[in-house]
Amino acid sequence: MSGYVNKRLFQGFILLHILHHASETPVFGSWLIEELSEHGYKLSPGTLYPILHHLEEEQLLEHYEENVNGKIRKYYVTTEQGLSELNEAKRYLTELTKEIGILEV
Ligand SMILES: [Zn+2]
Repeated sequence: MSGYVNKRLFQGFILLHILHHASETPVFGSWLIEELSEHGYKLSPGTLYPILHHLEEEQLLEHYEENVNGKIRKYYVTTEQGLSELNEAKRYLTELTKEIGILEV
């Protein structure tokens, strides 16, 4: 994404992607990087991990650890609070997409 507005939206869209996926199934960093890149969001681990950390600080995500082939992997899950923020964002997004004409509802 390029341009002033798109750069500002970019961060929020990433947060919504993360909350959405982590609300469906536990997710881990490299999976998220892959998933986001399929949607055109190129993120390095150095960008993603601080975002995950902030989402945890805000109590929107939580993680647990699992040993995968001898390596500790952190799985992230959306909290109740994260889910309610996600749902609120969805209402605003739906409203906006109707208004600016992306969706015909
Ligand atoms: Zn996604």
